[in-house]
Amino acid sequence: MLRVQGLARSFGGVYAVRDVSLDVADGETRGIIGPNGAGKSTLFNLISGHLAPDQGSTELAGSRIDRLPPHRRAKRGVSIVFQAARIFRHMTVRENVMVGAHLRASAGFPSAVLRLPSHFATERAIRELAEDALARVGLLEWADSNAEALPLGQQRAMQVARAICAGPRLLLLDEPASGLRSQEREQLARVVEELKSTGVTIMLIEHDVAFVSRLADRVTVLDLGSVIAEGTPAEVRADPKVITAYLGA
Ligand code: ADP
Ligand code: MG
Repeated sequence: MLRVQGLARSFGGVYAVRDVSLDVADGETRGIIGPNGAGKSTLFNLISGHLAPDQGSTELAGSRIDRLPPHRRAKRGVSIVFQAARIFRHMTVRENVMVGAHLRASAGFPSAVLRLPSHFATERAIRELAEDALARVGLLEWADSNAEALPLGQQRAMQVARAICAGPRLLLLDEPASGLRSQEREQLARVVEELKSTGVTIMLIEHDVAFVSRLADRVTVLDLGSVIAEGTPAEVRADPKVITAYLGA
């Protein structure tokens, strides 16, 4: 689904991402771990197009996407949930999620949305897509609440719902569980598991190695902008380089 080759990006002469290559299989859930400043968020922004690479290529399902702006990559199926919350503050939860569905409706997906005759019907279909996504993340009862009023866990779930609404093939989740209480983390883990079962390819940046190990098929470890290890969660946890760089043992 994703092939990244030789990706590099520097800021002021310092590499944030340096010669990163990785392949993520269709339907895989890939964990990305590494210390603060390792380049994890930069890597996601390079994949989603929110940052331009200095070098390297990015392919989605065999097509180069690295010259496309973020909205065109989104239309090809790349959805990102940023590390910092991006919510429309004066809108309801449903309206926030409908923004994602609008993207899909305008994207030329062969969905029922486009075959509907009137603008009104299209809006109604978008509303249904949004409600379906809200139900999947367990937020339907919050649909009419002001997005700003939601607890952090629900704000994250709302952003996942918005990303799902865009009909992603590759979903990038940047530390979705950070700052969540254990019950909220558990809910989020179940949402990710459910998404995984629908066949979406997922990349998940996460600080908590236990959380990643539970969800990821494979894990890539970044340190100082480079891949230092890759394998199953068990392989990576046992890797001496990882223990030194990251686990601090
Ligand atoms: P991580 O997500 O792994 O914590 P980041 O990708 O956010 O790491 O950052 C990697 C490195 O790049 C850090 O040293 C960070 O300070 C730097 N960096 C990231 N984004 C920018 C930016 N927009 N401008 C300058 N430096 C940046
Ligand atoms: Mg980050």
